[in-house]
Amino acid sequence: MSSSVIIIGGGVVGQSCAWFLQRSGHEVTLIDQGDLQGSCSTGNAGYICPSHVVPLAAPGMVAKGMSMMLDPKAPFYIQPRLDRDLWRWVWLFMRHANHRHLMRSRSSLAGMSVESQNALEHILADTGIDASYARKGLLMACRSEKHLAREREESEHARAVGLDVQVLSAAEVREMDPDLDLDVVGGVWYPGDTHLHPGRYLTGLRSKLVQAGVKMMPMTRVLSWGKHNGRIVSLQTDQGELAVDQVVLSTGAWSGDLARSLGLRLPVQGAKGYSFTLDRPPVMPRQPFILADYKVAVTPMGDQLRFAGTLELAGTDLSVNPVRVARILEVVRECLPAFRDHDFSGIQPWSGLRPCSPDGLPYVGKWPGLENLTLATGHAMLGMTLGAGTGQTVARMISGEAVSSAWNVCRPDRFA
Ligand SMILES: Cc1cc2nc3c(=O)[nH]c(=O)nc-3n(C[C@H](O)[C@H](O)[C@H](O)COP(=O)(O)OP(=O)(O)OC[C@H]3O[C@@H](n4cnc5c(N)ncnc54)[C@H](O)[C@@H]3O)c2cc1C
Repeated sequence: MSSSVIIIGGGVVGQSCAWFLQRSGHEVTLIDQGDLQGSCSTGNAGYICPSHVVPLAAPGMVAKGMSMMLDPKAPFYIQPRLDRDLWRWVWLFMRHANHRHLMRSRSSLAGMSVESQNALEHILADTGIDASYARKGLLMACRSEKHLAREREESEHARAVGLDVQVLSAAEVREMDPDLDLDVVGGVWYPGDTHLHPGRYLTGLRSKLVQAGVKMMPMTRVLSWGKHNGRIVSLQTDQGELAVDQVVLSTGAWSGDLARSLGLRLPVQGAKGYSFTLDRPPVMPRQPFILADYKVAVTPMGDQLRFAGTLELAGTDLSVNPVRVARILEVVRECLPAFRDHDFSGIQPWSGLRPCSPDGLPYVGKWPGLENLTLATGHAMLGMTLGAGTGQTVARMISGEAVSSAWNVCRPDRFA
């Protein structure tokens, strides 16, 4: 049965939901407090990476997090602040950073990611959006034996769930891209991963949504909800009130706050990251890679090159921390001799907030007891990877169709 669906949040997740809901015959309205460019969904590294089967809450992450917590230059950092939600989130994270949770999550993450990669390829084929989508795999390039050992260990989880993994020697890594002169001890290559230009993808998708009849409401902020008899009946926005039939909450790092105003407990922390995009890089890498020792991602996106990195639990603070931004540039200069300071002069860093749940798995599904509310958020480092699959799954749920069992781990009320 077709409904009228309001989607709150126009990032990659909200726009993907809009695409699949509209195609399933629903009447769709997409609301965003900003310009519908997606807060976190444009400046990210653009990887569609089924290889990432280890959730953020993984064994060893607590010890690693503790040692890095007070170092503002470390890849992971917690901005110290007195915030009850943050410390509850950290406590839940610590409870999930174990082997049992990893074993429970890895095949679901792989299943959701592969399904989502297929869904994304269908969107690209149906729309003809030119987002420089490429199937070139993803290389984890390691400068130290310690990080190579860690990457090999992680890759065993991807191999165990049936993904293609190749461990490469230093010579094999250099052979992949001789122009880069990478000083590495080896690497791990995931041939099945793909990448795109996320900003161009979202711009293209937005115009296809408009053409398809989706109603867009930019610069409209949802403030609160009207509830009656186990249903959401209205939304209060800063532009007036809207009546609700079905509603999807896909507000990224802001989802916890908006859910709280409805009386729901949905732990979400924003994990800030930065990127730099060069229009004229001195060398264009032949394929995307991550400098694994420093967690800095390097992605060729058509005619542009992007460097992205750092993860800082920052709530909803999007301000740029100069120390952490400088660290990305230091790593680039140290690892890629062709790049000099002047290549980055005048280039402003982009910042975005990854919406993170404490167990590293997204929230996708209906909220029990509120029959017309569906959640689609908490995708952390995998929003581009899982966005299309989430949209397809949400459309199936709202249309009353069966969804694949991989999404069962995403029950939104699991911390309620
Ligand atoms: C540096 C970096 C690199 C990354 N690299 C990758 C990668 O390579 N691959 C990958 O898969 N993922 C990557 N990610 C993660 C990915 O970018 C996110 O998971 C994804 O963008 C989240 O999408 P979203 O739609 O949930 O949230 P967003 O894009 O943040 O969209 C949420 C929207 O909700 C709107 N909103 C919020 N509150 C309200 C309200 N009250 N009313 C109306 N609108 C509201 C906001 O304006 C925003 O537009 C990266 C992230 C970062 C920071």
